[in-house]
Amino acid sequence: FNVPVAKNEPINSYAPGTKERASLQAAIAEARSKQIDVPMYINGEEVRTDKKVPMSPPHDHQHILGYFSEGDASHVQASIDAALAAKKDWAAMSWENRASIFLKAAELIAGPYRDKINAATMLGQSKNAFQAEIDSACEIVDFLRFNVQYMTEIYKQQPDSAAGIWNRVEQRPLEGFVFALTPFNFTAIAGNLPTAPAMMGNTVVWKPAYTQIYSANVLMEVFNEAGVPPGVINLFYVDGPTAGDIIFKHKDFGGIHFTGSTAVFQHIWKTIGENIYNYRSYPRIVGETGGKDFIMVHESAKAKQVATAITRGAFEFQGQKCSAASRAYIPSNLWEDVKKYVQEDLKTFKMGGTEDFSNFINAVIDEKAFDRIAKYIDEAKASDKVEVIAGGNHDKSKGYFVEPTVLLTTDPKYTTMCEEIFGPVITIYVYEPNDYEATLKLVDETSPYALTGAIFSQDRYALEVAVKALEQSAGNFYINDKPTGAVVGQQPFGGARGSGTNDKAGSMINLLRWVSPRLIKETF
Ligand code: GLU
Repeated sequence: FNVPVAKNEPINSYAPGTKERASLQAAIAEARSKQIDVPMYINGEEVRTDKKVPMSPPHDHQHILGYFSEGDASHVQASIDAALAAKKDWAAMSWENRASIFLKAAELIAGPYRDKINAATMLGQSKNAFQAEIDSACEIVDFLRFNVQYMTEIYKQQPDSAAGIWNRVEQRPLEGFVFALTPFNFTAIAGNLPTAPAMMGNTVVWKPAYTQIYSANVLMEVFNEAGVPPGVINLFYVDGPTAGDIIFKHKDFGGIHFTGSTAVFQHIWKTIGENIYNYRSYPRIVGETGGKDFIMVHESAKAKQVATAITRGAFEFQGQKCSAASRAYIPSNLWEDVKKYVQEDLKTFKMGGTEDFSNFINAVIDEKAFDRIAKYIDEAKASDKVEVIAGGNHDKSKGYFVEPTVLLTTDPKYTTMCEEIFGPVITIYVYEPNDYEATLKLVDETSPYALTGAIFSQDRYALEVAVKALEQSAGNFYINDKPTGAVVGQQPFGGARGSGTNDKAGSMINLLRWVSPRLIKETF
């Protein structure tokens, strides 16, 4: 069970004048200069159809990066058939060989594919260079390396045996196939959801968000080059209802690895329930869903630190992280300072395309997202309960641009304090310091989600009160730091309530969901 000790992939800064920056810029220019024809990948074959769907940068929606081939029910069926046919040999392959394939995939991304996958994430999902680097270079590499290590730890764990007997555990993959349904907002998550079950000996059918196909294609090129055998990971582009109708009714459906919206996950859970008599085993349901992540501040906190947490935690990647801060509770003694620092900081945030590395804010993912976010902002502007502290403008003429927007409300239950917006909007409620404990209670009561949250305090007693009062309000809880940016191997990520099954992405807990142990007792 000797595998390389996992270490976090170092982050490149892409500072001006560096050769890393020049090389990434060249990859972006190269990607922009052509139009690619992206296939589905079923049973190791590239599959193309006549239904070509254009892919464009969200910040430049008239430019076409290429087309993907949309499939239909037959491609879902073919993917399932391929996964089931590949299952026996893949499950029987030694763990060392499975580990080697995924370690090689990690090395390919860290090295020769780094620029290509970062460029794809920057253009296809409108992430700036730093946000792309921590996602499509570092986090996916970390997922692969750390999961290989967790895998071996799982296989290592064996029960005790009394004299005259031998107990042993066999960590079998699940029966049937696993469905990976992946989001647009992290290329790393899109890569982790199929590879974590595959690593444990499962075969997978994978449907990415249509808005992430441009970088999913690079992931698939890497998996193929790393030696993932035909049929082990099958990638198709078919609309949700068509795919779901085949997958969830299939008797060999073994489990789902999901990241996406709460509503879709709840619908899937219900559909699985309705089909429960069809399955041989209870399917594993693993999902990370929405968030309404908070920043709670005590009167002893440092205003500047709070302001930085607000501007970074709410606006990195345009607030399109499940972990993004979207509500903050500030004591009145700190508010004027926090406001001043937030406004000053936001003045330095440039907005525009990802090709210009000095733009911190880029576009939101598509028109549907833009319209949803713009509606929340416009309603807030018209409300007498809300004052706009910063931003508030939006424009979709060239790209889907929404200014980082800070709202101040007098009503702690105002819509934007409670509903997930999934965009660059944070709402602030100012409370009287004497109401600290009542405000903590309010934070919890208005948390139908429980993904991330942060508390800022220099007072240990106040901290202790908050840690207890918010015990159920977040699966990842940050003290004096922003609530985004969990690092694999350091802060395993996930939450409960409406935020998911809390099976912590990038952890042994998660990998254990993809095996079904058989205990063998042999008596001598
Ligand atoms: N793990 C990411 C973070 O800590 C968020 C993942 C997500 O948005 O789904 O910021």
